[in-house]
Order: sequence, then structure tokens, then C-alpha cells
Amino acid sequence: MTHIITSLCVRDRGCIDVCPVECMIPGYPLEQWPWIYIDPDTCIDCGACVPECPFAAIFPEDEVPAAYTAKGGEYISNVGLTGHYEATNHHGKAIALETTRQLQAGEVLDLTPDIKPNYDFFKGGPGYGAKDQDNGI
Ligand code: SF4
Ligand code: SF4
Repeated sequence: MTHIITSLCVRDRGCIDVCPVECMIPGYPLEQWPWIYIDPDTCIDCGACVPECPFAAIFPEDEVPAAYTAKGGEYISNVGLTGHYEATNHHGKAIALETTRQLQAGEVLDLTPDIKPNYDFFKGGPGYGAKDQDNGI
């Protein structure tokens, strides 16, 4: 099994440094790979990243919610969305995402389709090669 980052991730990078096996990779280009991705073959399921995420975006694979109820105001980031999100990340760098949308309170979302991109990123996607383009955002 592995842990999975879902589309609730807004790339604030609070999780990456705690991973003992360095298997969390920021996606590039952002329009195609808007999250941080976990290498399923390397993740040891230690759970250390989960409490580090201020957006509660990380789950064990078998606990990714099929019916996530939005508190309201949180952002999801997904290929094809056209909303804009700006913030400062965990390391003080500016983030700007263009593939987002803000959730309405009470909206129910299936986050299980977010599992596949975590696998695709490492199999056929940029994988660890994305580290070469990492500019800290
Ligand atoms: S569960 Fe542990 S090994 Fe897996 S991504 Fe999180 S911190 Fe890394
Ligand atoms: S801490 Fe959460 S929001 Fe920030 S990069 Fe990690 S998963 Fe994404």
C-alpha cells in the first residue's frame, strides 16, 4: 500500500521534508501535475506526512474518502479547472495555482479518482525527473 495525496493539496510543501524516504515529489508542469505526488513503490506507510498537512490532503490509500464533505472555502486543484489560488508556502515562497476551485460548504466529493494520478506520475509521467525543474513553488 501507499499513502496518497489528493486534490485537496495546494502545494504548500509542509509535508515533504518529514518523509524519511524522500518519496514526495512536487509535480511539474503545474497545469498537468498540480499536486505533490507520493511514489507508491517507495512509501513505507509511516504516516509521518499526514499530520504535517494543514489542508488534510493526505490519506492512506484505502482511506481516501469516496464522500468527502467540504467544510467550505477549501480549494481543490485538478487538471482542467480554471480557478486561481495564491498563497505563501511552508518555506515562504509564493504559490499561484491556475487549476483550482473553491469548495462550497456541504459539497460532497469523491476523492478516490485522485489515487490514479499518484501512480501515473511515477509510471509514464515525470516522476523523480520533475525534481530537475523544482523551483521551490
Ligand atoms: S507515509 Fe511516510 S513514507 Fe509515505 S509519503 Fe508519508 S512520510 Fe513518506
Ligand atoms: S502539506 Fe498538504 S497541501 Fe502541502 S504539499 Fe503536502 S499534501 Fe500538499
